[in-house]
Parts: sequence; C-alpha cells; structure tokens
Amino acid sequence: MKMRCAVLRQMGLPAPYAQSQPVHVQEVELDAPGPGEVLVKIRVAGLCHSELSVINGDRPRVMPLAMGHESSGEVVEVGPGVADLAVGDHVVTVFVPSCGSCTPCMSGRPALCEPGAKANTQGSLLGGGRRLHAGAEMLNHHLGVSCVAEYAVVSTRSCVRVPVPLSHREAALFGCAVLTGAGAVINRARIKAVDTIAIVGLGGVGLSALLAALAAGARRVVAVEPDARKRELAQSLGATHVIDPRTIKSDAELLEAAGGAVDFGYDTAGVLAAFESAYKLTRRGGMTITSGLPHPKTTFALPISQLVGEEREIRGSYLGSGVPAVDIPRYIDLYRAGQLPVDKLLGEAFTLDQVNEGFDHLASGAGLRDCIVMD
Ligand SMILES: [Zn+2]
Ligand SMILES: [Zn+2]
Repeated sequence: MKMRCAVLRQMGLPAPYAQSQPVHVQEVELDAPGPGEVLVKIRVAGLCHSELSVINGDRPRVMPLAMGHESSGEVVEVGPGVADLAVGDHVVTVFVPSCGSCTPCMSGRPALCEPGAKANTQGSLLGGGRRLHAGAEMLNHHLGVSCVAEYAVVSTRSCVRVPVPLSHREAALFGCAVLTGAGAVINRARIKAVDTIAIVGLGGVGLSALLAALAAGARRVVAVEPDARKRELAQSLGATHVIDPRTIKSDAELLEAAGGAVDFGYDTAGVLAAFESAYKLTRRGGMTITSGLPHPKTTFALPISQLVGEEREIRGSYLGSGVPAVDIPRYIDLYRAGQLPVDKLLGEAFTLDQVNEGFDHLASGAGLRDCIVMD
C-alpha cells in the first residue's frame, strides 16, 4: 500500500530543524505484513529524545531511516500465523522486539534480546526483512517500529495490546516514556517507601520516573531540571525538592539543595553533566542509574577506590529493565487507579507535516511529551 511516512536521510544537519528539514515526509510503499507481523494504523506517535539523538548524530543509525518508535494505533491486518493479535486490537509499540527464545529473553530480560538488538542495529524487523521502500530504494525501520507514519508493519514482538479503553495520546506514552522511566525506578531501583531518589532531567522518561517514585511512596524525591515550568510541575506532582542545576556552584550546594545524598541517583537526560549530578547525589552504598543515551564516545571517569570503599553501584536501564508485555498493562492499571497520573506528561500535538517543528520543540527542552497526531 502507499502511505506517508517521515524519513531521515542525513544525520547531523543543524538545528533549527524547521529550516534544515532533516526529516522528509514522503509517500512510500509499505508491504503487507509477513509471518508474525501486523499492519498497524498509527494514531499517535510520541516524540522521544532518542529520535533527536539519531537526527543530531549522537546515536548513529543506518540511513535512510523511517523515524519513530513510540506510538499507539490499531491493528488493521494480521500476517500469516499471527494468533495473539487480531484486527481491531489497540496496541502500543515497544522499541526492542523480543524473540522470546534467546538466553536474555529466557532469563526474563527481553530488553537485551539478541536477535532484537541485531534487527534494530541493521534497521530491519525482527524477522530480518524490511517492509518499507520508496521506488527501488529500501528504507530502514527505526527500532523495529517506524511509526511517524500513517501505517506501520511491525513484528507482533514489537507491540503490546492495550487491554482497556484508553485514548491513543495516553496509550502512546506507555510504549517508551513510561515503560523506560517507571521501569527504571520499579524494576532497576526496586524502590521502597523508605528510599530516597534524585531524578536528573524531567523529560517524558524523567517525569515518569518521578511519578513511579511517588507511587512507590519514596520518602524523598528530588527533581533536578533547568526548565522552570517542569520544576513547577514536579513540585505540584509531589517532588519534595526541586533544583535548578544552573544555579548550583559546588557539590556541597547540590547536596544541600537535595536535602542530602540519596539512595538512588537517576540520570535520564543523556548528557555527561546529568550523569555526574546523579552520581554526586548518590549516597555511599547507593546506586546510580542511567537511561540516558549520550554520544557513544561520552565517557565518565570515576575513582575505583571510591566504588569499592563506598560500595557504590552503577547501573544502566534499557526498556525499563522489565518485560514490556507484563509491565505495560500493570502501569496502565496504576494510571487508571490514579496512582501514576501520566496524563500530566502530555505536551504539544503536531501534524505529520510539522514533524521538524515538533523536533525543534523537543530540542528546546521546554516541552513535555510532544507527539504527532495522524489524521
Ligand atoms: Zn523513546
Ligand atoms: Zn530474544
């Protein structure tokens, strides 16, 4: 079928993107779903910082790339052998497909699925093929999804059925922002009411982490964020301390503003300074966690003796460190019970043709979780 889709052909073009137009919205051919795949009519595609990281070259991917990994839509056709999804199902997309049978998948860690990682690196679907082309030119899938488009063909292992009525704007949040941020706090930190946490960076992931920490009853929740509006939001949601990192002159000031060191320092921003702040805020014996994805050459030097003598832990968290098919319905339940009010994350809505303007708004750091709403 023919449909319109957002394609990136060159990384590293300068901002503002409304002028440099790195993402082209064009008509492409989308093949029918193959075995184990479904055709999804995309309703809402979330604009996530990892898309921006591909556009600016921080996270290099194979070009040309059909953009997008966070979305909500409806299954309109199923490929051969699909039994677990049906036409009419409401699904959200997940940015690592899990084969279910490799060692990480069998060990309950589908974020590390080996065939999934291979497919994502080569820009294919989990089954190895590509379903998108413009004339003779094959287009690569972004993270097995490519949802900044009217339709997407994805592996059933790249989506999770939404079990209850939810608007598409709400549902899309659960595919990446909530899965990643709430997952890091719930599955990686395994946070408890007695714990303290500092969250550095309040994008969609950071705000989701904040909500999860509050839902878990953490006794001190510190939010570090340069944008005043987001700090206010964090405070209104229940953050006990908010810090503007631009006003901090020393480590001692940072710790004082946070009410002391915390059990968990969580960097969601993907820049070195944010990780450093999260590390400095972590108490002796505490855990520093990151979901940030800075440029692959970004490194962090630390005194090994401190790691040992202070029994520190440093952990990465990808895809929320859990099982999306289990976690997403649980997070949706918490949302419906009012315990995880992720609708507070909803930002601006753009049209497909405004995709570059949408990425400018995301890059400005002022927005919440912006999205593209398809016609
Ligand atoms: Zn994302
Ligand atoms: Zn696997």
